[in-house]
Amino acid sequence: MIYICSKCLFTFKRKDEPDHCPNCGSINIREAAEEEKSKLKDNTKGGETQ
Ligand SMILES: [Zn+2]
Repeated sequence: MIYICSKCLFTFKRKDEPDHCPNCGSINIREAAEEEKSKLKDNTKGGETQ
């Protein structure tokens, strides 16, 4: 699943729903929309972690 932080718009991939943003720590996380998922490649450097 791909999630996006509503606060800083950091986009990241997780197997399970995260409880906070790994970038800014905000708990305002939601599932990324299709167009937002395209940003993922800009924020990750090599696949799924954690
Ligand atoms: Zn954030």
